[in-house]
Amino acid sequence: MIICPAAKTLRQHLENLPGRVAFVPTMGALHAGHMALVAAARATADVVVASIFVNPTQFNEASDLASYPRTPEADAALLAAHGCDFLYQPEVADVYPQGPSASLAHNLDFGSLTERMEGANRPGHFDGVAQVVSRLLEIVRPDILVMGQKDYQQVAVIRSMLRQMSSPTELLVVPTVREADGLALSSRNRRLDADQRQVAPRIHQQLQAVAAGLRAAWPPRQLEQMALTALQNTPGLRPEYVEICDGATLLPYREMEQESTEVVVAAAVWCGPVRLIDNQVIIVK
Ligand code: AMP
Repeated sequence: MIICPAAKTLRQHLENLPGRVAFVPTMGALHAGHMALVAAARATADVVVASIFVNPTQFNEASDLASYPRTPEADAALLAAHGCDFLYQPEVADVYPQGPSASLAHNLDFGSLTERMEGANRPGHFDGVAQVVSRLLEIVRPDILVMGQKDYQQVAVIRSMLRQMSSPTELLVVPTVREADGLALSSRNRRLDADQRQVAPRIHQQLQAVAAGLRAAWPPRQLEQMALTALQNTPGLRPEYVEICDGATLLPYREMEQESTEVVVAAAVWCGPVRLIDNQVIIVK
């Protein structure tokens, strides 16, 4: 694996390579969830490029950015062992040569996609995500962009961005990888202490309970409230939201009124000092 700290050298390497390029953007502190993305990239393309960049513009809290785990040596070893060909691991100035505020992503309009959930609870987050992903696409120019369903709303935003930019890049979405007890793998899980780690799988359990309720045609708002109350009553957890949304619009799902085919139940929950997100997708038709 070749590690490139500069976009310019990465471009030089990629310029004359034949075959399809798949790209896996990450913020590092890599785990088996990221490796599932690398494996999917490996299976569909000739050249696999990953990036590790803790993008400051998508963090709405300075403390979250400062405490974000960083494990560069272990990350590089893991990527190399899983067949990654190139790792782009830049400093902020290489990604944003004119400064982070100068390079906002085009005139994008995400409409209802960013109104709720992470969009409502992390102001500016998706502007930062769109900014960094559009810049990384400009650098890597992949045929295939690989992302995780764990960040359902992020996938919806990036799909919309690719459409608005008339991008030729395809989006490949990989299912969420979980621990044996159901907890979704996340770089932030490293910051959980033993007690917090023990209680964190309740998030997935509640999302599964909501999904079961939806399949049994229980009213969505009631299910949201039940899950919220159950999480609030779990010592060590502090839910920010539990929302049942139409998968296409990410607006509240109302079973009688909508033509939904896919519904997503998503939650953000504080577990001690760590904010965890997870979701469960239900196919309703
Ligand atoms: P991050 O490093 O958290 O920005 O994540 C980089 C990519 O890995 C994103 O597309 C995430 O959705 C994906 N990802 C993170 N956790 C998981 C997981 N547990 N399973 C599958 N993909 C994941």
